[in-house]
Amino acid sequence: MTIEGRCLCGKVRYEVRGDLTRAGSCHCSMCRRSHGAAFGTYASVPDGGFHWLAGEDDVTVYKSSPAGGRAFCRRCGSTLGAVENGELRWITLGTVDGDPGIRPQANIFVASKAPWHEITDDLPQFDEYPPSE
Ligand SMILES: [Zn+2]
Ligand SMILES: [Zn+2]
Repeated sequence: MTIEGRCLCGKVRYEVRGDLTRAGSCHCSMCRRSHGAAFGTYASVPDGGFHWLAGEDDVTVYKSSPAGGRAFCRRCGSTLGAVENGELRWITLGTVDGDPGIRPQANIFVASKAPWHEITDDLPQFDEYPPSE
């Protein structure tokens, strides 16, 4: 399937061709700050499946770790995805238009979750990354 997403102001738009394969909510302090929320929910994009449709000039990548970064719209601040080694590998599910066809499969970095947030779903919880990574 093909899905589309956009930032809050609408200047930046993207599409993903092919099915999203994995999705999860990250409770680490960087994701919380980046989203201004209890957690960030991401889905992995298939190889070569991610494309900016509009507004790529307004996309800024904040380097939050040596190999990773967060792509956001410099006009409205929406966090659009996570970048690994210069490539956008994860989109934020909150910026998707309509149903992305995938549901979150796990809560990760639960050891650093916000003290004011209680996880109430039944998904597996991992203190950091799942063991398979
Ligand atoms: Zn924007
Ligand atoms: Zn995180």
